[in-house]
Amino acid sequence: MSLYSMNIVIIGGVATGLTAAYSIRKNLPSSKITILERGEDISYGACGFPYYIEGLIEKEEKLIAKNAAEVLHDGFDLKLRHEAIDVDFERKEVTVRNLSLQENLTLSYDKLVIATGASAKRLPFFRGMKGVFPLNTLEDANHIKKYIEEAKPEKAVIIGGGNKGIELLETLTLLAVDTQVVEFLPRILNRYDEEFSDLLLKELRGEGHKIHTREEVTGAEASEKGFMKTVVTDQRTYEAELVIESIGLTPNTDFLQGKGLQMEKGAIVTDRYGRTSIGDVYAGGDCALIYDHMSGQNTYLPLGTNANKMGRLIGLSIAGKEPDFKGVQGSAMLKVFEFEMAMTGLTDQRAAELGLPFDSVMVRTRNKSGYYPGGTEFFVKITFDRNTGKILGGQVFGREGSALRIQALVASVYAGLTVHDLEYMDFGYIPPLNSVWDSLNIAGRKASEKIENSRRGATR
Ligand SMILES: Cc1cc2nc3c(=O)[nH]c(=O)nc-3n(C[C@H](O)[C@H](O)[C@H](O)COP(=O)(O)OP(=O)(O)OC[C@H]3O[C@@H](n4cnc5c(N)ncnc54)[C@H](O)[C@@H]3O)c2cc1C
Repeated sequence: MSLYSMNIVIIGGVATGLTAAYSIRKNLPSSKITILERGEDISYGACGFPYYIEGLIEKEEKLIAKNAAEVLHDGFDLKLRHEAIDVDFERKEVTVRNLSLQENLTLSYDKLVIATGASAKRLPFFRGMKGVFPLNTLEDANHIKKYIEEAKPEKAVIIGGGNKGIELLETLTLLAVDTQVVEFLPRILNRYDEEFSDLLLKELRGEGHKIHTREEVTGAEASEKGFMKTVVTDQRTYEAELVIESIGLTPNTDFLQGKGLQMEKGAIVTDRYGRTSIGDVYAGGDCALIYDHMSGQNTYLPLGTNANKMGRLIGLSIAGKEPDFKGVQGSAMLKVFEFEMAMTGLTDQRAAELGLPFDSVMVRTRNKSGYYPGGTEFFVKITFDRNTGKILGGQVFGREGSALRIQALVASVYAGLTVHDLEYMDFGYIPPLNSVWDSLNIAGRKASEKIENSRRGATR
């Protein structure tokens, strides 16, 4: 008779994979858990890469929550440099390539967890050129760090004006690399409403940062020694010894294609607990969709918060425990130089796409009491249901301390509160940190007035 109550195979050893492993271990202590990781690194915090490259986080180990020795010591069968290359869902078997020995092995499972993450999309123009990198794995971060230290690039181009691209603008600027950001869409950070993308863009450009929107990379040229030399766009040519491509992600699910596992654009379709369309197969993190309770849809939201949550929920689900989980709501934050931005729930643009009856208010206040020195501007926008006043989402922008102000809106959206609830909500106050009327009190009042006025207009 088997020593183990259940035989579990996890593919991928970073955020979702390792969180799932420990969650299963906690809830099913007698299970056998094998973790397959095709790389050499596990359990690292990718979100810290920009600060690691900058040198603020000095040692790679600081980014690692659990190293391989600890994971093995904790009783997991961790197989590094082992790549899952095929799965037979009928026979419940995974074919694995041992990349060190260059040989295959077959593992059977009772439950399979797919936590393979995603890979950075790449442009075709840079193939084989030195000094061009994605930033997705710890290996990528180390390559970039080493290249900056050794080649000492003076000029860089970041391709893509999403979160990662904009964060890296700060990193490279602090490392004294003259950096251009090239974004082919009309604006940066396009998950935010236009006013918010524009607020940040204006501030960054005002400080002299070179961010080019509506500009598409069309080619590149290398030096005789194969090093990056120039990036060509549809508008101009930039000299650059360093290029970072940050143009989006492709879920690592190629090896699962055509096997009956339901996917959308390569991302695995799951329910709230990571269950896939195939029995005993779970998936979560950057390789899968996640349920967004605000849109009521499965959405691709590749974030560390979601990856960790899904790891834990998958573990609980495998153990037969399914806590109340409503789904996520797209909360995200950004910090670049002294600026901070955050969002939760639906933006105006997303509410419009979903065909919802929405309205919104935007409030500009200060982050300190009017009389207190050193205050700076703070912006908050609330998107709400124009009939019921239900808060659908919010966005904030300002300087230090601004992003964390989203958390009150996160809770409001999660709890299904209305703009009326915000009007007199009892926010804390001290002059160096806030005004006697919190900006959310003001936004709640403005939104309530807007609803009231439109009702009056309708009954006239
Ligand atoms: C620079 C950067 C900054 C970020 N900043 C933030 C942030 O501030 N906030 C936030 O919420 N999120 C942030 N994220 C996103 C967050 O880090 C990811 O969402 C999260 O790491 C995804 O975890 P995961 O476990 O799904 O995938 P991954 O971390 O990608 O892990 C998947 C693992 O699976 C392995 N694998 C893949 N295929 C196979 C296979 N066939 N066989 C074996 N192993 C395989 C891969 O080698 C990889 O190690 C950031 C990401 C980056 C890169």
